[in-house]
Amino acid sequence: MSSTQDLDYPQTFFQYNHGFLVSKVMFTACELGVFDLLLESEGPLSSDAIAERLGTSASGMERLLDACVGLKLLGVEMKSEGAFYRNTEFSNLYLTKSSPKSQYHHLMYYSKTVYFCWHYLTDAVRDGKNQYERAFGISSEDLFGALYRSEKEMIKFMYFLNSFWSICGRDVIAAFDLSPFTVIYDVGGCAGGLAQECISLYPNSTVTIYDLPKVVQVAKERFVPPEEHRITFHEGDFFKDPIPEADLYILARILHDWADDKCMQLLAKIHKACKAGGGVLLVETLLNEDKTGPLDAQLFSLMMLVHTEGKERTPTEYSKLLTAAGFREIQVKKTGKFYDAILGKK
Ligand code: SAM
Repeated sequence: MSSTQDLDYPQTFFQYNHGFLVSKVMFTACELGVFDLLLESEGPLSSDAIAERLGTSASGMERLLDACVGLKLLGVEMKSEGAFYRNTEFSNLYLTKSSPKSQYHHLMYYSKTVYFCWHYLTDAVRDGKNQYERAFGISSEDLFGALYRSEKEMIKFMYFLNSFWSICGRDVIAAFDLSPFTVIYDVGGCAGGLAQECISLYPNSTVTIYDLPKVVQVAKERFVPPEEHRITFHEGDFFKDPIPEADLYILARILHDWADDKCMQLLAKIHKACKAGGGVLLVETLLNEDKTGPLDAQLFSLMMLVHTEGKERTPTEYSKLLTAAGFREIQVKKTGKFYDAILGKK
């Protein structure tokens, strides 16, 4: 049976065609501060009041708010004076800046950086490589030099990545019992969101964030509270500098940035540094073995094409890399959420 028989066309055509319009509505309402204003306001507000408070046109704001109602990002009450808008529970949770699970930075990175780079998806598919040259006029020979093309871009990237862990960090850290591993290195640990989840679930562990010096500096200054002594830092380049001994190495969203040869180089180095009986935890979005899904992993693999040197992989592909580096007893846990976990032992 052809899989297109599942499609409800022409509805599916319009739904796919409009996909980026939907994203843009959510990004724009977020960027203009619609959800923050409605969270702070005493009650529902009219479109004119929202437009005035946010300094936009009345006609543009009314259409934006109505589209948000269509997407169930806002609720609306019809009164004799007209329509009054309020946040939904979903918007309060993910789209306001002050929520502990806020995805504001995630959306802003998508809106400004990812959206811009995906303009070059066709070129990326033609060339088989990322598009920093076309998008920003810069070389991507040093991948993270290109990604961190300014301090501002680097900080935006750090906030963006960190926001995921407030909604999926617990699932990946709880996928295996990591309590036997007390000395943990989060290699490429960035802003430390996953390190914080780790010490909260395993209070007897210490986690060292190993990352490039400028990333570590910002993580210390902006993200990890100084009183948190169970999180420490190590500045280094994981391809060039030594990696210290530990019980467990977390590699979250690291291997998907790199081609197989670089993954092998890093995994072999980690295997050498790892204590006997220790292990490595990979956190990635896993493709099905036949690559027929999940759609999020397929889209992320294209994202890796546009932005990095890597790709998303199947459990077997990761297991082969781990085995070649010397790791054994490989276990795969699909969390049923966005990110999955693979544990290999030394
Ligand atoms: N693990 C974090 C997470 O999931 O939120 C960050 C993942 S991010 C895609 C890749 C991380 O690897 C960044 O923090 C980056 O600075 C770091 N990184 C890239 N190249 C590195 C290198 N050569 N040495 C150390 N860290 C590096």
